[in-house]
Amino acid sequence: MVKNKSQTDYLVAIIGRPNVGKSTLFNKLIGQPTAIATNIPGTTRDILYSNISWNKKDFTLADTAGIEMDNKSSLGQDIFMQTQQAVDDADLIIFMTDAREGLQIDDRRSAELIRKMDKPVILVVNKSEGTKYDDSAHEFHKLGLGDPLLISAIAGKGLGDLLDDIVHQLNSIKKPKISIQVEDPDKTRVKIAILGRPNTGKSTLFNKLIGSKRSLVSNEAGTTRDTVNAIIDTEDMDIELIDTAGLRRRGKIEQGIEKFSSLRLIRALKEADIALLLLEAPEGVIAQDMHIAQIILEEAKGFIFIINKWDAIEKDGKTTAEYDRYLDSKFAFVKWAPHLYVSALTGQRTDKIINLIKETWQSLNTKIPSKRLNTIIGDAYITNPPKGKKKPPKIYFASMNNLNPPTIKLKVNYPEEIHFSYLRYLENKIRQEFPLPGAPIKWQLIKSSTK
Ligand code: GDP
Ligand code: GDP
Repeated sequence: MVKNKSQTDYLVAIIGRPNVGKSTLFNKLIGQPTAIATNIPGTTRDILYSNISWNKKDFTLADTAGIEMDNKSSLGQDIFMQTQQAVDDADLIIFMTDAREGLQIDDRRSAELIRKMDKPVILVVNKSEGTKYDDSAHEFHKLGLGDPLLISAIAGKGLGDLLDDIVHQLNSIKKPKISIQVEDPDKTRVKIAILGRPNTGKSTLFNKLIGSKRSLVSNEAGTTRDTVNAIIDTEDMDIELIDTAGLRRRGKIEQGIEKFSSLRLIRALKEADIALLLLEAPEGVIAQDMHIAQIILEEAKGFIFIINKWDAIEKDGKTTAEYDRYLDSKFAFVKWAPHLYVSALTGQRTDKIINLIKETWQSLNTKIPSKRLNTIIGDAYITNPPKGKKKPPKIYFASMNNLNPPTIKLKVNYPEEIHFSYLRYLENKIRQEFPLPGAPIKWQLIKSSTK
């Protein structure tokens, strides 16, 4: 199994309903029984990749049969999601149907999506051994994806034609030219993850921010398929927008069918310095938003709330202040993150995002001098010492050693007795003087018997 899909320039994805024979075709084409062919829909688990060479053309074949099925949703919905994910990455799609079952409603639905996606497609009708199914081909014409190619993955029928067709199509694809950013070592590069549940407007915002003056960088030099980040080149820093889940391409694709994936989110977040959490003004805050906020906090990243679709609610002079209070009540644990009200659709206030990112970057890299820090903490201690088993635990010394995020090292005699809520209290005191908007404060408690 080859998992590294960056080895060739082209990715070809086999998609279709469960059980049409995707894994069987994949195995046949790569010449090894790697994927498990089975009658139980959704039983292979991973996307499998393998490199193939045909007529001197190299490409990577992906079998999407294993894309995780969500048992709760209808099968049709799964196919949509599967289709979308595979298509996001692929240069060419092999859309597989089943001659024995004939044209199904889910085939039609997927075909509808695929047609909107503007990618080359080869329609194959599998399980057509012999000549029995030759006449049924016309039925599949109705999908509007061109002439169906009758194949039998098991019997090997039509596979040479299929490979020829793949190579033919790949030869006519013009790869988008990606300008690989020449690194400027003197310029700060800040990485941004745009996060939020599906439909909050992430891709709309992404596209708005990069506008027309964009330069793109590929994560792996020379590849075009993997996530392509966009760089906004400003005077004092480069702002790199991480292409979470193919945001750049989402515009063309059916909306609202993205599956919420914590894993994907965490991956983008780990790479980022600052997270923009998109909320949807009309719908308000729901549990999933809080969950994402929690993840951002756990990763201790810069944090900005972007309240989107501000155009879609009725407003008067007080609405923003009311919404601020509403957010403070919902996200009481992250009152230090700035709020910005925008419309990604109309572009209202989206230009303010860049400045907010710069301010947050400043906060993330602010070093509070030890002297000030110890005065603030000392005063806070005198007003309200932490509760200990017998006596209040002692705090000897505070210093800020690490930045991005600012990290305060506290030397104390009994670290286990300094509770989380006490650190919260100290943090509030510190923020009264150094608000550090957008930056979390991390604590390190060091056991010590002296300064
Ligand atoms: P997937 O879910 O689309 O990956 O489908 P599989 O590759 O697991 O195949 C589903 C079932 O269809 C298995 O029982 C295969 O043996 C069978 N199958 C696959 N290709 C063919 C074919 O060309 N002809 C026939 N008759 N059966 C096939
Ligand atoms: P994503 O799933 O988070 O990437 O969300 P999309 O960017 O695909 O947007 C989801 C839907 O919300 C689309 O129909 C957008 O046109 C719409 N949308 C995005 N931003 C705004 C906005 O600022 N105002 C309004 N009214 N609609 C928006």
